[in-house]
Amino acid sequence: MDLEKDVKFVKGVGPSKVKLLNKLEIYTLKDLISYYPRTYEDRSKAKYLSDCVDGEEATIEAIACSRISEIRMPKKTMQKLIIRDETMTGTVTWFNQNYLKNIFYTGKKYRFYGKISKKYNNISIISPVFDEIGCTKNTGKIIPIYPLTYQLTQNVLRKIIENGIAEVKDNLQETLPEYLLKEYKLLNINQAIQNIHFPQKFEDFKLARYRLVFEELLTTQLALLQLKNNYMNDKNGIAFNKDVKMSEIINELPFKLTKAQLRVLEEIDNNMESEKSMNRLLQGDVGSGKTVIAMCAAFKAVRSGYQATIIAPTAILAIQHLENFKNILEKMNIRCELLISAITKKKKTELLERLKNGEIDILIGTHALLQENVEFKNLGLVVTDEQHRFGVKQRTTLVEKGKNPDVLVMTATPIPRTLALILYGDLDISIIDELPPNRKKIETFAVQKNMSERVNNFVRKQIEEGRQAYIVCPLVEENEESDLKSVQKIYETYTKEIFPEYRVQYIHGKMKQKEKDEIMLNFKNRQIDILISTTVIEVGVDVPNANIMVIENAERFGLAALHQLRGRVGRGQYQSYCILKCEGKSENARKRMKIMCETNDGFIISEKDLELRGSGDFFGTMQHGLPEFKIANLFEDMPILKTVQGVAIKILEKDPNLQNEENRLLINLIKDKFLKRIEI
Ligand code: ADP
Ligand code: MG
Repeated sequence: MDLEKDVKFVKGVGPSKVKLLNKLEIYTLKDLISYYPRTYEDRSKAKYLSDCVDGEEATIEAIACSRISEIRMPKKTMQKLIIRDETMTGTVTWFNQNYLKNIFYTGKKYRFYGKISKKYNNISIISPVFDEIGCTKNTGKIIPIYPLTYQLTQNVLRKIIENGIAEVKDNLQETLPEYLLKEYKLLNINQAIQNIHFPQKFEDFKLARYRLVFEELLTTQLALLQLKNNYMNDKNGIAFNKDVKMSEIINELPFKLTKAQLRVLEEIDNNMESEKSMNRLLQGDVGSGKTVIAMCAAFKAVRSGYQATIIAPTAILAIQHLENFKNILEKMNIRCELLISAITKKKKTELLERLKNGEIDILIGTHALLQENVEFKNLGLVVTDEQHRFGVKQRTTLVEKGKNPDVLVMTATPIPRTLALILYGDLDISIIDELPPNRKKIETFAVQKNMSERVNNFVRKQIEEGRQAYIVCPLVEENEESDLKSVQKIYETYTKEIFPEYRVQYIHGKMKQKEKDEIMLNFKNRQIDILISTTVIEVGVDVPNANIMVIENAERFGLAALHQLRGRVGRGQYQSYCILKCEGKSENARKRMKIMCETNDGFIISEKDLELRGSGDFFGTMQHGLPEFKIANLFEDMPILKTVQGVAIKILEKDPNLQNEENRLLINLIKDKFLKRIEI
């Protein structure tokens, strides 16, 4: 059986359907049968009429008390059937379904599934699907609900998938090794595929899902860990000069490094001196001082005769890094330059020429660095700042500009270990778990909306003292249009009503990068008093003079997002404040705000965020660079993830390169998932 065969050869798929299926990224028979339901409707258990509540979807078993009566209305007809079960009488109504007229027989029992409307004591079911008792075409079972595209209906897609599954029935080749199926009591692949689509009972579905999630997470985890093994055993990396001492640059710094920074630097130093490639993730809360680590590593690379590059997500961050680097490194005769898309063509040509000739030691920039014509003479170190903004692919593009350069990935999103292992399983991890001394805690307050007046007065007081403020607008939805509207509305209120005397500006995600950079620069240069923004300011721009942030509708943000946002203040010598304005009285929101007020520690916050994940959007702030999962959900499936991580480590301990016959299938899975779809 050919799983790769074009989906157009599946029964029920005509030319027009092919196009629709392709839109859902279903191209082959295999894609079709692994197009998993989004949810299920349980039409198996019938309820009594008297137990139904208004608005729910329910299955009812009832006797028809009459034939259908038809009511003519201005533009439609209505079909009405009186039914009763043991508890009460009700009505079933359809519209324009004239063919139903002769289908129901008085006294016969049927099963209906549809939406319940209950007004006073009159109960009706609107436009239900139905079966005679004994038949389970539309009811009496669990029905899968698929994510759809325009013009494709549930019924049609369900039928096509049913046909696809009928073709492969019981003939799918097992994808997991026998020993794993046994040891972890997993369903075989045929049962799993059958039951993920058409389970008889919810228990069947659960087992099927468990098996498929297990397989997906195991594949990803194994692939990442194996990648890491490869780096570790690969001796083709650069061994940077042992005689170049980090202390030389550390002594030039205007401050003493924290213990955590020193520890991390030592880990990096060891990596750099070894002939294995470095692939290290540096996690550290906002403000923990990651930039200086990148600088020291770059110093070591340059003094060893190599070039280094730092990629940042925005021009303003790149500029900020450049300034910091130049302050220290220029007097040590290390040449740092900036490459962003805004520089003139002439300057760029000249810069690229010098880069190629090795006349630039450290190149700092934005996505512009990724362009093909950016060529280094001998790139030895690649640093990505705020990793969550870049995908694996972008990281790779930059890395390929050198010959096995060392790689340092920096992120301010603290991640609990279990997740780090699956998100960044191919990397070694270093953590800065300590802030530089004398940082003032950002005072955080949660207030209800009716306190706005007092909040505004407080902001005014700070501005009068020469400070600047951020006002963050709520996320309306995952929808930029409506976010935009909310920014504009809040901007109007603030400029016209609340702070007409101050210089207020707004910034949002839909603006051109250049425009955003300009505004941020103006803010940094104190030409703006109050900056109203969506979450675009989340990424690390340093405006030490801004000491107050007001977050509107803070209840709509996840903890991790709030923490990232808050990190924008508290960067200078001034006492800083974060005010969380909330609406509503949700218990979960109250808990989240309490955590924010109690702690400034990103790791504690991320742990709590996971605990309260119901509303937290842990990944909201990470967006890119995540492995894609077809069925696994890293939150709900945390227990499976933990099991799988243990399994993966055990497998690789016994068979590091997955060469044993018993693991042949695992190699296939990894190839299938990673080599075909994304390039690692
Ligand atoms: P992040 O980890 O968020 O990127 P930065 O590297 O931007 O943090 O550092 C935040 C600020 O702290 C910078 O102004 C930096 O110069 C300063 N800093 C870093 N390390 C120390 C230290 N050990 N002592 C004092 N200040 C430090
Ligand atoms: Mg930073």
